[in-house]
Amino acid sequence: MRSIKSVYKIGNGPSSSHTVGPYNAAKHFLKEYPDADTFHVTLYGSLAFTGEGHSTGKAIRTVLPNADISFNKTEEDLPHPNTMLFIAEKGGQEIGRNRIFSVGGGSIQIEGETAEEECIYSFRYLSEILEECRKQNITLKDYIYQTEGEGLKEYLKEIWDAMKTAVERGLKAEGILPGGLNVSRKAKTLFEKRCYNESSDVTMNRIIAAYVYAVSEENASENVVVTAPTCGSCGVIPGLFYYMQYDKGFPEEEILDALAVAGLIGNIIRTNASISGAECGCQAEIGSACSMAAAGLASLYGLEMDKIEYAAEIAMEHNLGLTCDPVMGLVQIPCIERNSVAALRAVNCVNISRFLSETRKISFDEVVETMYITGKDMDSRYKETSHGGLAAMYEHKSELQ
Ligand code: SF4
Repeated sequence: MRSIKSVYKIGNGPSSSHTVGPYNAAKHFLKEYPDADTFHVTLYGSLAFTGEGHSTGKAIRTVLPNADISFNKTEEDLPHPNTMLFIAEKGGQEIGRNRIFSVGGGSIQIEGETAEEECIYSFRYLSEILEECRKQNITLKDYIYQTEGEGLKEYLKEIWDAMKTAVERGLKAEGILPGGLNVSRKAKTLFEKRCYNESSDVTMNRIIAAYVYAVSEENASENVVVTAPTCGSCGVIPGLFYYMQYDKGFPEEEILDALAVAGLIGNIIRTNASISGAECGCQAEIGSACSMAAAGLASLYGLEMDKIEYAAEIAMEHNLGLTCDPVMGLVQIPCIERNSVAALRAVNCVNISRFLSETRKISFDEVVETMYITGKDMDSRYKETSHGGLAAMYEHKSELQ
């Protein structure tokens, strides 16, 4: 299994697989063919269906300003649901081509090549890792730092700074999000809207939701966020952990450790299943973010490893089957609200895991496998194509008006 560092990537929203991945693919291709004078890019599958709303063309043109980009919505025989074909020409002659897949969280895979990133973990399942921790009599976070070696803490600090900046920027911003859906920003209103006689529980939920909205709205505005594990699900972890640091007083050092544990959970999910909405639906994005946040929070609270595992398992279990159906192909409805619901759900998962971990029947690894199988079974209309669910309902409603 690769480093957890690549679970957290700093980049521009609104979609890691539709903006960060294609941007990285264009950069890779330009490096391969620096002498080319013309580039043609064809986007297939989910990238063709929701690429416009997700600003895929804009991301590619940041690297290849004059690229001719086309959206092929008819080809169905694809090796990956997020496939891109890059062609380079010089003097009117083709000098090279590559099929590149955007595999989720901003990562790419070049057809016919094995992943470049080095595997640094000897294990790929949480059960194996927990077994190793018990053998060595160390905690999960100790195991992560031991495996990742020097530099992880500094990297997480950089990631946490970018996450905090996104919360703070988003809390100040107002207005309408881009894309034509006329969705207004709500983070600032939520943050300031204390109700008469508001209980402490309601305040907690409102403030966490405000922080999460702040980041997700920054993402929808194509501003800088951190994949956690994707851009679409980038609000859950920063929103929840920001609350823990600034409203609950947990020291930053411990927040970084919680990020490490959350990162390990995301790493296991992407290794054994998927974190791509185009591949497995929203359960792979928001389900993963919720699971990561629950594990990180459980670790922050100092719960035992079994309870950390159980919190992560509950969080994924109750996101199983969650479809991806973004209205107008924009990462706004249901995505922004869904991030805040997932952050609040993570808190509940930890509260259940505190008391019931001994009675459980399903392991984290089993639920991850189930998520993957469910995702493979899912109809393509519910995998980031905007052909089903809320996207279809909204389109139908618009036609009637
Ligand atoms: S519905 Fe979920 S998976 Fe789909 S774009 Fe929104 S956050 Fe991403």
